[in-house]
Order: sequence, then C-alpha cells, then structure tokens
Amino acid sequence: MVITPHPDDAEIGAGGTLARWISDGKSIIYVVCTNGDKGTSDADINLEDLAKIREKEQMAAAKVLGVKEVIFLRHPDQGLEDTPEFRKELVRLIRIYRPETVVTTDPYRRYLWHRDHRITGQVAMDAVFPYARDHLSYPDLMEEGLNPHKVGEIFFWASEDVNYRSDITGTFHLKLTALGCHKSQVGHLQPNELEERLRQRHESMAEKEDFHLAEAFHRVEILR
Ligand SMILES: [Zn+2]
Repeated sequence: MVITPHPDDAEIGAGGTLARWISDGKSIIYVVCTNGDKGTSDADINLEDLAKIREKEQMAAAKVLGVKEVIFLRHPDQGLEDTPEFRKELVRLIRIYRPETVVTTDPYRRYLWHRDHRITGQVAMDAVFPYARDHLSYPDLMEEGLNPHKVGEIFFWASEDVNYRSDITGTFHLKLTALGCHKSQVGHLQPNELEERLRQRHESMAEKEDFHLAEAFHRVEILR
C-alpha cells in the first residue's frame, strides 16, 4: 500500500520500485491523501478543475505502472492535519487491505518540507504502528469486522537517512512514462529534460551499488 500526499508523489518517490514489485507479482494499491488542487502556478485554472485533472493524471500514471487500485481521500491540498479522523481513515484502509508493506513519504526531513508530506508520513506511520496493530485501538472498527493487522515493513521515500537502495534499472522507463502522465506538473519541461533530470538523480542514488539506477529509502522492518 502506497500512502501518498499528492498525485505524482508516489511516482517521484517510488515509481521504479513499485513497477519492479508489480512485475514480481505483487499487488499495489494507492491511497492518495489530497486532491492536489493547489499544485499549480497557473493563476487561470480553478481548484475544482485542477483536482479533476490531477485525478485523471494519477489514474493514467497508476495504469502505466500496473497499480491495481487507486483510492482518493480528496482532502484539500495543503490541508492535511494530524487528526484522529485522518489517522483512523488510514487505519481503516490498512485493516481492509492488510498490506505486507507500506510505502510513504519520510516525515523527518529537516527545514523546508511540504507540510502535507510531513503529515502524511507521520500519520501513515502512526496508523501502521500501533493503531492498525492493536485490537483495543478502535473497538468500533472491530465491531465492523476490521480486525487488527500487522504491517511487516515501511519504506519512506525522500529520506535524509537512506538505508535501502532499490534497483530500478529495468523499470526506469516505466517510472519516466508514469511521471510524464502528470502533465499539470511536468508539462512545462522540455522533451528529454524530465528524463535527464531523473536519470541523474537515480544514478547518484545508485552510486554505492552494483546497479545503475536506484530509488533510495529509509526502510523500517516491524518485528512481529
Ligand atoms: Zn507532494
């Protein structure tokens, strides 16, 4: 399960890794927390139109990677807070879909870090541990038949404390195509500019590895 702040963050952070996991037979589900309706510098576009465009772009990108299902929570962009309601929303989904792995954004980047990213990472982590795990956390969810679930590992993208580099050499092209679906975000770039930027970024992430292109994460294994 990928818990992502905005449409496009999952592809930027983990698109190559997700495509590789999918080719290995894993099922991936996206949970997109906000509608991305502030993600533009175009003063003429209205918020509702942008939210619709970004959902379509997200669906197209997910299709390129082979993501099985996309759930839109549709919170307003720049509007996420660490609330009991948001946490429970994520716990509910974790208990319904029962993922082995959760992939999200690292909440612990210092200084400038988009508030929605910080909060998504924080709330996703709390939802995994301990709230989805413990049967006494939400008696009402138990009554609905949503039993506790133990996630096995969390991958945080955009981490300043990388401890895991994932080989995306074989799926880089899918990441690039998926990211290209987010035209409202990358449409201003010249052809090849996106590819060149991405390639440089992922080459440098693979510097210490014996493969060519990597995505970098902080991975936490959750002991059971
Ligand atoms: Zn974002």
